[in-house]
Amino acid sequence: MRRFTSYIGQQSLLQSKTILTKSTISKKVATGLLLTTAVTAPAFLYYTKSEDNNSNTKSPAKPEADKTETKSNTPSQQDTIKALNGNWREFEIIEITDESHDTKRIKISLWNRHNEFGLPVAGAILIRKPTDTWKDQNKPEMRPYTPVVVNDPEGWVELLVKVYPNGLLSEYIAGKKVGDTLEIKGPLPKLSIKPNMKKNFTMLAGGTGVTPMYQILNKLLEDKDDKTQVHLIISQKTEKDQLLKTEFETLAKKHPEKIHLNVITSDKQGHINKDHLTKLMPCTDGSKCGNDGLIFVCGPPAFYKAYSGEKKSPQDQGELTGLLKEMNFTSDHVYKL
Ligand SMILES: Cc1cc2nc3c(=O)[nH]c(=O)nc-3n(C[C@H](O)[C@H](O)[C@H](O)COP(=O)(O)OP(=O)(O)OC[C@H]3O[C@@H](n4cnc5c(N)ncnc54)[C@H](O)[C@@H]3O)c2cc1C
Repeated sequence: MRRFTSYIGQQSLLQSKTILTKSTISKKVATGLLLTTAVTAPAFLYYTKSEDNNSNTKSPAKPEADKTETKSNTPSQQDTIKALNGNWREFEIIEITDESHDTKRIKISLWNRHNEFGLPVAGAILIRKPTDTWKDQNKPEMRPYTPVVVNDPEGWVELLVKVYPNGLLSEYIAGKKVGDTLEIKGPLPKLSIKPNMKKNFTMLAGGTGVTPMYQILNKLLEDKDDKTQVHLIISQKTEKDQLLKTEFETLAKKHPEKIHLNVITSDKQGHINKDHLTKLMPCTDGSKCGNDGLIFVCGPPAFYKAYSGEKKSPQDQGELTGLLKEMNFTSDHVYKL
């Protein structure tokens, strides 16, 4: 994750210190939380039903950030806290840049650089849109996002947010300015990733589905003894839609013995198909692959549908269907992020 720090340099540290005087939090050390969720919503909304412990009434109440957490004592520069503690907390936006024509990089402050975000690798967070003018009672007001930089030594976290036309949350986030805050809750943990847990990982990522892959890749690279071979197969609509392009290319160039990067642009090469997978995966007939590898899948709903079938809930991976099933893989070989 340190790789990202180069382009922000000292400026971010200065900003983080300034923000400390604006935003305050308690010294309370976080406890982990596995958020419970509904199982019936469409895949990309299933985190967002009303099991939220601050709004468990049927009619949507105005979301209140946990004010006891956000407005109490200012920690000293030496305190280390975990920012994610299972409650809604406000985080100040310290930088917004364009990642592509429709995707923003949003950097948020951890109040001071000694703090940890508290997000296990590949984990997600929830962001919500507080509103007084709630109209559509059936539409949840929060969505999950997967930060690409966590625990940066300078005390910030970075998100990639693709903005969808009329997208409730993404347009809300995109409308924010530096100095505004976002209400965030987490962590939403996923599979525990350990170095050398498998001989190889295949990562099938569509669009913003690259975000957890980038987290996992960096986790593996932190361990000098890790020998996992990583086969990244990224699908993007066009070249200009490619996310984290520089980061992935830099990592692949630096670790050619470990990272095998393939980007398939659907305008030129079509969607990822069986021929692509046969060329690019380390093992292509699931019935002969044993337990050496794990295939991660992450992308928009149609992407899951095509390759693995959708998840039912964060705890329920759902049935394995789609192209990977056709290639004789089983649910033991596949993890839907
Ligand atoms: C575990 C998890 C992690 C995620 N991490 C990220 C992330 O790091 N960055 C990020 O940008 N998004 C991420 N998403 C998707 C995100 O949660 C929202 O679904 C997305 O921002 C759209 O929400 P919205 O409120 O703007 O759109 P909505 O108001 O819900 O929908 C608006 C329109 O956009 C379409 N749409 C909504 N979501 C998608 C989608 N994912 N793909 C294609 N079409 C869609 C809908 O069909 C609808 O037409 C993640 C999703 C999950 C489940």
